[in-house]
Amino acid sequence: MENVQNVQRLDCPVCGSKGSFVITTHQIDIPYFGPVLETTMICEKCNFRRSDVFPLEVREPKRYKLKIKSERDLNKRVVRSSSAYIQIPELGVEIKPGPLAEGFVSNVEGVLNRVDNILQTLIRWAETEEQRKKAEELRERIKKLKEGKDEATLILIDPLGHSAIIGEGVEEEILSEEEVEKLKEGIVIMDLDKEKEKK
Ligand SMILES: [Zn+2]
Repeated sequence: MENVQNVQRLDCPVCGSKGSFVITTHQIDIPYFGPVLETTMICEKCNFRRSDVFPLEVREPKRYKLKIKSERDLNKRVVRSSSAYIQIPELGVEIKPGPLAEGFVSNVEGVLNRVDNILQTLIRWAETEEQRKKAEELRERIKKLKEGKDEATLILIDPLGHSAIIGEGVEEEILSEEEVEKLKEGIVIMDLDKEKEKK
């Protein structure tokens, strides 16, 4: 696996500190998908952090569906760019794209762990007993999914075509132009060049 790493230092677009904004770029080759650029941005001053991925080859906007049925499904690879929607309808889970959405290269288990982390945060901040109970029930279901004792569907939709679930049993469907336009409305892309122009 080829691994090209590049590190860049800029002024922070969030807090304005000089040279504190470190951008690390990695190239990863993903079998059956192609080369992907993984970018992490961290400000050493204000601790702003963001990561994202995008493929170096042009890809079609698609909807990926995987029925998680056994432990084997947990190892299937997931490329999630900040422009992707993640849904697990059986659990009522939806993670939307947006300025705080994180892009990553992981697997199905990694996605479940991320959802579990969000639920743990929800439990800490829950305002009612009911909210807390609901989140704890979901955590229990995620635990069962990870043990291969429950089933659910993982759906990944990316109107820019930057994301995918890769592996046997994954259903793929090309998005219609209308769907793409509708889904794009929810996406905010941070443009560092524009931030620089403002100064
Ligand atoms: Zn900063």
